[in-house]
Amino acid sequence: MNIQSPELKTRGIETRRVNHFINGHEIAGMSGRSGDVFDPAHGSVAAKVALASTEEVNSAVAAARAAFPAWSETPPLRRARVLFAFKALLDAHKNEFAELLTREHGKVLSDAMGEVTRGIEVVEFACAAPQLLKGQYSDQIGGGIDNFSLRQPLGVVAGITPFNFPFMVPLWMVPIALACGNTFVLKPSERDPSASNLLAKLLKQAGLPDGVFNVVHGDKIAVDALIAHPDVEALSFVGSTPIAEYIYAQASARGKRVQALGGAKNHLIVMPDADLEQATDALIGAGYGSAGERCMAISVAVAVGDVAEKLIAKLVPRVKALKIGNGLDAGVEMGPLVTGVHREKVTGYIESGVAEGATLLVDGRGHSVAGLEEGFFIGGCLFDDVTPDMKIYREEIFGPVLSIVRVPDFASAVELINAHEFGNGVSCYTSDGGVARAFARQIKVGMVGVNVPIPVPMAWHSFGGWKRSLFGDHHIYGEEGVRFYTRYKSVMQRWPDSIAKGAQFTMPVAH
Ligand code: NAD
Repeated sequence: MNIQSPELKTRGIETRRVNHFINGHEIAGMSGRSGDVFDPAHGSVAAKVALASTEEVNSAVAAARAAFPAWSETPPLRRARVLFAFKALLDAHKNEFAELLTREHGKVLSDAMGEVTRGIEVVEFACAAPQLLKGQYSDQIGGGIDNFSLRQPLGVVAGITPFNFPFMVPLWMVPIALACGNTFVLKPSERDPSASNLLAKLLKQAGLPDGVFNVVHGDKIAVDALIAHPDVEALSFVGSTPIAEYIYAQASARGKRVQALGGAKNHLIVMPDADLEQATDALIGAGYGSAGERCMAISVAVAVGDVAEKLIAKLVPRVKALKIGNGLDAGVEMGPLVTGVHREKVTGYIESGVAEGATLLVDGRGHSVAGLEEGFFIGGCLFDDVTPDMKIYREEIFGPVLSIVRVPDFASAVELINAHEFGNGVSCYTSDGGVARAFARQIKVGMVGVNVPIPVPMAWHSFGGWKRSLFGDHHIYGEEGVRFYTRYKSVMQRWPDSIAKGAQFTMPVAH
């Protein structure tokens, strides 16, 4: 694979450093603080990432603020042209991005490539900026008066993103915010930060003026600085629910616009009439893909009626047979978890499930991969007899752990899911159209799949959960994203003394 990134070239020679990217340039961290970026397959430290001070965050916001007047005045068509060039560069660097993701996150290469593709799709959507920002016009609402509406950018906006999609989630935000004329400060996850810097370099190469897009790496100090900064008009957050709730409360109390997407506990109902082969494939892929580190991972199989035993007979051998290893190796289905600390957390949940009386049908604890004994691996785990009072049911585990909950009928399945505090994604496997329709209408969850395990909306729809999976009014990307990153303005105008300005002989073009 072609590795063009200078970061990767230095790997193994000296500890690579991941710097900030402010005002068009890489800036070494000045705070004296840094964090470890692991190679999860080997369990070793692959790089050090700068952790920003408040002053460093302030300098990124100042750069974004200085860049805002010119960028917001740039015609949407020309902003879109930068995004077209960016999209071409992303296509050219797809392999490099995917490999970077696998090296820092651990997900398998084919899955990383899927993440890259889904991220690029949002750039494609944002390339329609002139169309997206087109306003509405009512002619002659009164004598000689017209009324029109338009959407204008907010100013400096910030994004705070999680470790599990280090390419795609920043691109849920950045292309749309920029297309709408905002300038941006991104604070990516400190666990796999490198993709953000490559995004910044490619945006610059695509012609984005310095300061329009900035990256500050960091932790709570950087996030709190963004929340407190009076020039940050809006915050987009994707991560766990406690942090989402904190950011929503803190930033909205300061009058900022906030969309804060949180954690999940996604159920997949298996009806007795479901195609069990398909349902099993769905549960294996959505439960164990990316080692369960997806906000749309399925972590609960809701077995309706007498389906549980038949389902278990199919699931157990498949979970035991998962091909686990280095995500860079061909044929591997599941890579390691992101860090050793995270593996301890997941292991703790498995212990709690056993202690609370669930039946552990497949125990992946202690799984080791030959030649990668220090890697953060864990095998697939499968629990049966899970009940709603158990911690493994109530909380998000974010690992390759699938819980089976048995319910007598469809109504109980819907009641169970609707009672859960999270409402990100959900799925139902059935061959009955009436059940499918009732499910889609009755379920209190933002993203619904019928015989589709992971119903992540396309870029021109919008992504978001209900209940404690999202704080704020807007889902992310798609038209919801355009609404989030713009203010609506309505103008009424009358020109009683207007006179003709004379003839114009050239084709009007955007300047
Ligand atoms: P996280 O909440 O730990 O971190 C997310 C971001 O918040 C990171 O940039 C991190 O640096 C920052 N952060 C962490 N602790 C903070 C604190 N105390 N104060 C301020 N900022 C803080 O989440 P994660 O572990 O990186 O990602 C996994 C979580 O993200 C899971 O809960 C998953 O469900 C969720 N997620 C949700 C969606 C969605 O669309 N709903 C998508 C992807 C991931």
